[in-house]
Amino acid sequence: MLRTHTCGELRLEDAGKEITLTGWIQRSRDLGGMTFVDLRDRYGITQLVFDMDRDKALCEQARKLGREFVVQVKGTVAERSNKNKNIPTGEIEILISELKVLNKSKVPPFTIEDDTDGGEELRMKYRYLDLRRAVNRNGLILRHQMAIETRKYLNDLQFIEVETPYLIKSTPEGARDFVVPSRMSSGTFYALPQSPQTFKQLLMVSGYDRYFQLVKCFRDEDFRADRQPEFTQIDCEMSFVEQDDILETFEGLTKHLFKVVKGIEIEPFKRMPYEEAMKKYGSDKPDLRFGMEFVELNDVAQNQGFKVFDDAELVVGINAEGCADYSRKQLDALTSFVKKPQIGAKGLVYVKINEDGSFKSSVDKFFDADALKQWADKFGAKPGDLLLVLAGEAAKTRKALNELRLEMGSRLGLRDPNKFAGLWVVDFPLLEWDEESERYHAMHHPFTSPKAEDAHLLETAPEKARANAYDMVINGVEIGGGSIRIFDEELQSKMFTALGFTKEEAQKQFGFLLDAFQYGAPPHGGIAFGFDRWAALFAGRDSIRDVIAFPKNNAGRDVMIDSPSTISEAQLNELHLQVKKKD
Ligand code: ASP
Repeated sequence: MLRTHTCGELRLEDAGKEITLTGWIQRSRDLGGMTFVDLRDRYGITQLVFDMDRDKALCEQARKLGREFVVQVKGTVAERSNKNKNIPTGEIEILISELKVLNKSKVPPFTIEDDTDGGEELRMKYRYLDLRRAVNRNGLILRHQMAIETRKYLNDLQFIEVETPYLIKSTPEGARDFVVPSRMSSGTFYALPQSPQTFKQLLMVSGYDRYFQLVKCFRDEDFRADRQPEFTQIDCEMSFVEQDDILETFEGLTKHLFKVVKGIEIEPFKRMPYEEAMKKYGSDKPDLRFGMEFVELNDVAQNQGFKVFDDAELVVGINAEGCADYSRKQLDALTSFVKKPQIGAKGLVYVKINEDGSFKSSVDKFFDADALKQWADKFGAKPGDLLLVLAGEAAKTRKALNELRLEMGSRLGLRDPNKFAGLWVVDFPLLEWDEESERYHAMHHPFTSPKAEDAHLLETAPEKARANAYDMVINGVEIGGGSIRIFDEELQSKMFTALGFTKEEAQKQFGFLLDAFQYGAPPHGGIAFGFDRWAALFAGRDSIRDVIAFPKNNAGRDVMIDSPSTISEAQLNELHLQVKKKD
């Protein structure tokens, strides 16, 4: 090795040792008689000291070092008089006796510090420099720990990691596939997997019993903030299980990761049916770090002459406790918030419950104190509280109130990033109606089983059938989801029919699975976690890009390697492809 120690290793007890370090020049401070240099590697930062009195030539050599030069230094560990309590090596420094430049560096296009001056686009172009910053490094190290601990935990439970193929077959379900043209067979294409779903089910048919895989998945979706065209799942499947077994096993994994990676013991997860989540929070991934549950007011607010309410399918509100002192300006800001096109409410009704118990509302013309007291009672509201009420079509209004609830949660500091509230949302609907294609879509995927008591609805009232499907939600973020699968060929065929597949189409797309189900498929179920999102949550970062080494930007481009890019005429010919020229 070119070094005896790393830059994060030396402590006071090492004082007096002769050592050799290697690393990058983070910064240097020339104080005339002395030059101090921060030397950085993956493990930390160590202060180097060059002393004019001891070695003038060496000191002059040190003054010429540029940022990000790679050097090797030899010297003696010494106690620092001016200790830095913020870094683990802050009690020592190295009195340098030899300096060797291993490589020079151009001046980096941005500062390699947590608080960098580089914009997003520039840092993406020079991602290898961005990755030198501690914040990014810590994110990737944390991600690595999570991966290792996941493997350990599942291995201890007899899960085995099996790799499934990346070149598979395109299917019309779900998102759009990325496809890869076949050179050998003109006009045919592989698809990159959106998930290893069918393969993991086949592994259950093969008797593997417990499977997992940290696996790349690919979805060619229109770019939305914080989506990556390729992302990683912790993908799992188990045989001879019921829903509770899956929830317990993977709540166990979650607890384990919280404990060993974050040092946090988390409370047992709540369980909530989808319908209840939608009714109480207007979301299938409610943030349960705080209450502020929805209260429906139709029975007390309608038929009192206020047309907006009378015409509405739903009148529903939340109680912002202790906010009765909100100013006109603050209330106007909330009204503008709910009226934003992406939220879509037409207006906001408020009721202040003053400290003296009197009311002040934006609908005083229509509702007297007695009427407003009825509202307040429904909320269990007390003096000092502020009721915020929306009305309109039920689903849209719930969605808008969900946004307002989250906004109020943030404003009131109720979404503490150091607090974690886990939740299983269960009993999702099996199907949802798609207006555009005028047919049902599987809400989870077409292999999800209906609840036994709802299976008969598949042929009569499919939209009413509930599924054995579940999502894991932490702090309002969907971390994972899965289902107990259909394992019976007949039921799977019925499901394809409900989804509008003809027998021939089902056979063409999924014949291999239907065939496999005729050879002794065990009852099975599974789950997949969005590993990037989970890592971002643990790292306390807003974007999954922050925990991916080489992510694409929001337009799906890798600006560093410049991809996607064109290919040569020869390659196109070989692949039997023609590129349409843009007019
Ligand atoms: N394959 C599913 C998904 O990617 C998860 C599962 O059902 O296991 O969402």
